[in-house]
Amino acid sequence: YLDEKVSIKGYTEVEKISDSFNHLLTRLQTLENSRQEFVSNVSHELKTPITSIKVLAESLLAQEDAPAELYREFMEDITEEIERENKIINDLLSLVKLDKKSGELNISSVNINELLEQILKRLRPIAAKRNIELVFESFRPVEAEVDEVKLSLAINNLIENAIKYNYDDGWVRVSLNADHKFFYVKVADSGVGIPEELQESIFERFYRVDKARSRETGGTGLGLSITRSAVLMHRGAIKVYSKEKEGATFTIRIPLNYIA
Ligand code: ADP
Repeated sequence: YLDEKVSIKGYTEVEKISDSFNHLLTRLQTLENSRQEFVSNVSHELKTPITSIKVLAESLLAQEDAPAELYREFMEDITEEIERENKIINDLLSLVKLDKKSGELNISSVNINELLEQILKRLRPIAAKRNIELVFESFRPVEAEVDEVKLSLAINNLIENAIKYNYDDGWVRVSLNADHKFFYVKVADSGVGIPEELQESIFERFYRVDKARSRETGGTGLGLSITRSAVLMHRGAIKVYSKEKEGATFTIRIPLNYIA
């Protein structure tokens, strides 16, 4: 009887180990798949502007005695593609920095009201071009321990998107609130919205609901993954509420005091 018990017990232990081993293998496989997908996406994204530049330059070179205006037009297009390449590289660098351990955060006490005012000041001219109203509502003064540069980047992306994916003459409302533990930044817009089934995917690297629209507005598909990484590094949370064609609301929640 004792022998039997030992062997049953032994078997269960082996089973347990084998289960966790399989679990680990599956997890490694998932990580490896997403790494491969990321590398292939990066290559593709970096190649696209280069291909355009090549086509533009070659077709210009193929024309004998091309008039000056044509040169100008092509050079403008080439410059645009170079700017695009630059933006992708900069976004990738931000993402790489954010992917490092949270020890890399440069924490200081920051006046969040002022930080938001600064971001809005920078984005106002862009919103004004399409007659989009940009409103800031602060329910209380907030001082918090954050990495100012990374948090700015995170919030900037949200407001930039709220403008980019909006209709002309629309609105964007940014609000700031806090309780005893967290502060909350809410960015609501009157734009095109996001279909419910895609609301998780938009945080993935390079994911765009509408590739053409994102490209037109200089998007790289990295903005929201940068935002999410920055928020998570602060031990915060991000959520989205949206209905297609009825605008979107992104809310981030960040602890007032940094928890190492
Ligand atoms: P992008 O550089 O394309 O803007 P993001 O990572 O910032 O990349 O966003 C991913 C996608 O999520 C966008 O391409 C867009 O389709 C969608 N999206 C993000 N913010 C909004 C918003 N406020 N309203 C509607 N769609 C949005």
